[in-house]
Amino acid sequence: MSEKKIELIPSFQVDHTRIVPGIYESRLDTLGSEFATTFDIRMKYPNIEPVIHPNAMHTIEHIIATYLRNDDEWKDRIIYWGPMGCLTGCYLIVKGHPTPQEVYPLMVRAFEHLSDYEGEVPGAAPINCGNYLLHDLTMARYEGKMYADRLKAAPSFDYPMAERVQDEEGRTVFDS
Ligand SMILES: [Zn+2]
Repeated sequence: MSEKKIELIPSFQVDHTRIVPGIYESRLDTLGSEFATTFDIRMKYPNIEPVIHPNAMHTIEHIIATYLRNDDEWKDRIIYWGPMGCLTGCYLIVKGHPTPQEVYPLMVRAFEHLSDYEGEVPGAAPINCGNYLLHDLTMARYEGKMYADRLKAAPSFDYPMAERVQDEEGRTVFDS
């Protein structure tokens, strides 16, 4: 029997000039017989509006990660939550292959939790965090409210696609 290589990495990429805030399936990986789904939690219009400040993004990382890993419905499926380097959104990796529409209520709840958050930022202490002074709860709450409002007003789940590009050496380019 011939070995067939499964091509998991799609031959297309996101057209970042047309992406709008929303929730998108960024990639699907298999680990043995299991799936891991990476979601693009896009909070900003790339290259059009100001990005999330690094301090606010760091606070978003701590508060949403703590929320997701304590959520009774989803905590056992959360693999990873963290910021995009471009500061226009975050990545969420979960076990299995849920749709963006299935993740949507979780994201609305998580970002509403962030927008109402009061008190100490969880894990913002030298023993827990590599840069515990790099936080901004006020701006994190502002960004949380903006994204929750955007999700509730006009959720977007379908990526605008373009052909994947290669660099001068013929290597396929990825941003994550
Ligand atoms: Zn930290």
